[in-house]
Amino acid sequence: MSFSTDVKSELVKYALSVRESGQMKPCCMQTETYALFLFCRAFSAGEMGLKTEHKDIADLYASAVRDMTGHRPKRERTAGGKYRVVVEDPIGRQAILSEFGYSGNEVNRRLNTGLLQCENCRAALLRGAFLTSGTITDPEKDYHLEFVLGTKSLCMDLSGLLTEVGLPPKYVQRNGAHVLYYKDSESVEDLLTLMGATEATLELMGTKMYKDMRNRVNRRMNFENANSTRTFDAAYRQIEAIRYIEQKRGLQSLSPELRELAKLRVENADYSLKELGENLSEPISRSGVNHRLQKIMEYADELRLIEKNKKS
Ligand SMILES: [Zn+2]
Repeated sequence: MSFSTDVKSELVKYALSVRESGQMKPCCMQTETYALFLFCRAFSAGEMGLKTEHKDIADLYASAVRDMTGHRPKRERTAGGKYRVVVEDPIGRQAILSEFGYSGNEVNRRLNTGLLQCENCRAALLRGAFLTSGTITDPEKDYHLEFVLGTKSLCMDLSGLLTEVGLPPKYVQRNGAHVLYYKDSESVEDLLTLMGATEATLELMGTKMYKDMRNRVNRRMNFENANSTRTFDAAYRQIEAIRYIEQKRGLQSLSPELRELAKLRVENADYSLKELGENLSEPISRSGVNHRLQKIMEYADELRLIEKNKKS
């Protein structure tokens, strides 16, 4: 699965969980549904439907159609394996348009900002927009998130909204489509967080940390032998575990001697076990350091397991 697919699955899961737990206000629910319709290629009196690679998104769209029109829309798989949902009934299309404040005779497709009633409605709209028109590149390759839209007027309205939330995008026209995009990791992280994809944000931050660390360590170490690459990967996994503990429970949840070692490890990615041991307030041996790091890793694994069980 691609990173983009993972992010969308996470967003759908997030949207469903906040809906089911009653944490999402009716205005935000309506806005999110609205975005699923609005940012699709077809949203007019003559044609309305969604084409997506994601079954979850097709399900969301189809159930919204059923709720608003009382009828199940037509569903099919395209030759390329995509999911297509089509609102075939003209009366149904009209009902959906008027639900969102459209007559069906609009010349340009615009964002109806009147539907956005609270602060969180913006996040809900962006989530819906990303689900239907967004993609994100695997951060291992590049930091890049974009929305691809068929209509310039709608593209500019979305750009305005993104600017309002403090994330002004860049714009480019590509093959007749209107594209809003970000190439800096901070904006991508902020937008993912705003939309509710915290796991994806963590992954992106982890990848960034890995790259930064690798560059930093590279300057000091010689990576030509496999041994130092292994050392580096071990250090990286330890740091990732420590960050995870910090994020979920705080480093105070560690005993004082583990906490001191954790801090030393994070601050000195390039230290060997021997160097770590020598720099503790009460120096210990290489194997002592190894033993303590093992404990830290095991604790992080326990926390990950707890998180995993919470989700399923
Ligand atoms: Zn709202």
